[in-house]
Amino acid sequence: MDEFEVIARYFKRSSGSPHVLVDNGDDCAVVRVPEGFDLAFSMDTVVAGVHFFADAPANLVAERAIRVALSDLAAMGATPLVCTLSLSLPHVDETWLSLFSQGVEAVTTAFSCPLVGGDTVCGALVITVHVQGLVAKNTAVKRSGAQVGDLVCVTGCLGDGAAALAVLKGECSASAATFDYLHERYYRPLPRFDIAQHLYPLASAAIDISDGLLADLGHICQTSGVGAEVDLHCLPLASKVRDLAPAAQVQAWALSGGDDYQLCFTVPRRRATALQRLIDEHRWDIAVVGEIVARPGIINKVTGADLVVHSPGYRHF
Ligand code: ADP
Ligand code: MG
Repeated sequence: MDEFEVIARYFKRSSGSPHVLVDNGDDCAVVRVPEGFDLAFSMDTVVAGVHFFADAPANLVAERAIRVALSDLAAMGATPLVCTLSLSLPHVDETWLSLFSQGVEAVTTAFSCPLVGGDTVCGALVITVHVQGLVAKNTAVKRSGAQVGDLVCVTGCLGDGAAALAVLKGECSASAATFDYLHERYYRPLPRFDIAQHLYPLASAAIDISDGLLADLGHICQTSGVGAEVDLHCLPLASKVRDLAPAAQVQAWALSGGDDYQLCFTVPRRRATALQRLIDEHRWDIAVVGEIVARPGIINKVTGADLVVHSPGYRHF
């Protein structure tokens, strides 16, 4: 099977999206950005053996790669429009490709983000996903808008991603129910579009938590020229994760682990009532974990001590 047959069999489908004028199969896809919107786009690459287990089920590899890329759109308050996929494969393994394309189909359908193009080459197993999204004109929420006094909020539970990795690597043993929960959280992280679409005008800054709360809140602080206090008692932890390891380990996963793909965002105090109203109305899983302060760095709100990354995440270089 050559490259063209692979593309035709596994990756060519019509998007059915009203925004897509020319689908997959031409030299370019052509997509129309509707009046009143800005285009947000982001690219993520995952390398076998570095970002995913080379022997992981291919549908889950696809789901995770695309969900992780989509999370960046959510972090800006954008909604999915289309995606493209660059695939480097060591050889044509039809069983793997068939499963992989099922994963692509499942996730692009679930998030209404059709695959409109890509590239297929022979090489090490490397997957690059490029996602494009729409955000109403001038409403993209950046990392740089946090101000002193803003509340620091996070969605969902923190530490699930790091706990999942520990369990999947066999470093930590889990009950069947906990394993299933963490396996799902690892391979099918949920980009928080439910909350992301309300970030504007609520939030002053936002980021998705891919490298742990300290690292990612750190990016907000650095680009905004501020610091933060975090109340460790307020970290939202899943009970299944809490039961898995000693409290210090769980806290380290929540602060410094990665792969949660929840949102961290800051909310000016004058919007605290509006935030609470939205939380009540939508039953959102949002926790206020701290406050933005003038002094650079992130400190423990109770003790005043610097919070330092427990063990820095994977560094490529
Ligand atoms: P070109 O040589 O013009 O760059 P290609 O032969 O690389 O075109 O690709 C042919 C068509 O198939 C293009 O529309 C391209 O977007 C699409 N395509 C190639 N690889 C993939 C892939 N992995 N997923 C989706 N579409 C793909
Ligand atoms: Mg061409």
